[in-house]
Amino acid sequence: MPYPTPIDLRSDTVTRPSDAMRRAMADAPVGDDVYREDPTIDKLQEMVADMLGKEAALYVPSGTMSNQLCLRTLTHMGDEVICHEDAHILHYEGGSAAALSALQLRPVAGDHGILSPDAVDATIRPNSEHFAHTGAVEMENTHNRCGGTIWPLEDMRKISALAKERGIKVHLDGARLWNAHVATGVPLADYAATADSVSVCFSKGLGAPVGSCLAGSFEFVERARCNRKRFGGAMRQAGIIAAGAVYAVEHNIGRLAEDHANAATLASYLLQVPGLSIHHPVQTNIVIADVGAIGGAEQVMETLREHGVLCGVASPTRVRFVTHLDVSAEAVKAAGEIIARVLPVRALGTPD
Ligand SMILES: *Cc1c(COP(=O)(O)O)cnc(C)c1O
Repeated sequence: MPYPTPIDLRSDTVTRPSDAMRRAMADAPVGDDVYREDPTIDKLQEMVADMLGKEAALYVPSGTMSNQLCLRTLTHMGDEVICHEDAHILHYEGGSAAALSALQLRPVAGDHGILSPDAVDATIRPNSEHFAHTGAVEMENTHNRCGGTIWPLEDMRKISALAKERGIKVHLDGARLWNAHVATGVPLADYAATADSVSVCFSKGLGAPVGSCLAGSFEFVERARCNRKRFGGAMRQAGIIAAGAVYAVEHNIGRLAEDHANAATLASYLLQVPGLSIHHPVQTNIVIADVGAIGGAEQVMETLREHGVLCGVASPTRVRFVTHLDVSAEAVKAAGEIIARVLPVRALGTPD
């Protein structure tokens, strides 16, 4: 087999560090980062701040901690945070905005994971003792649960302008901002300029084993640093893992275009399956397929697993495929052929 099996399309978090990345990690100079003496972490933070056009950045263990530190640092206890109804902070972070920062999330509908400026405008609370204070609005680009869709820069700018006008903060969950940047050519800093705080992940499509960075003003990042200590996220010789992120940023951003092309290929195979539909436009590296008409998500996932293709269950009727640097174009094509061959058989109820 010219590619590893099974073909693992569950998530872009399943990648493993390459030999070159591991060598960079083994050779990284390190120090105690709580003393601010880790040269590799300093390098990563400077690179990221620079790319995002922010004054400073902070390395943290996970994207969840990064988002939650940003929310905590931007807001006050009891504040409301406006987000899309399918936001990662709402569904996949263990209720931490409430549990750790006493925040109330206010989910708002929007096509394909994207909030319209008008909807945000209408959701900001008037100043009154009856209401929670709207502390922040959160944007997620690309949008995970809605299939890797890209927020238009213009909408982000409008939301940013109206938030400023109304005196509320803006957080950008940019776990996959790299993908949006590569797909559109919009500079990372242009996206980041629309937010007070930005979070980016290295352990998704960039292929590093651990970590995320948050970025913002000097003052914001200093306060986030104190909160990171409180959250238990201050690490010592963590340059050894940050080196994987440095390597990823230096080598693996441009190649995300291959993942996007592979996702489009996969979508074209999926669409050959009668009764299957794709719910969101496939713009980056995620494909969410509606399989309600052909047996449901668990059954489709199981059938594909038996044939050497792994996907994720997004809901009882939806499965998710994510392309990444550990699945080649060849492997994706092979997965597509398996899908086009075995799923219609199921749909007709014939044993395979
Ligand atoms: C993966 C992800 C995160 C954070 O993930 P961790 O698993 O905590 O690193 C945050 N936001 C989005 C949109 C994500 O896809």
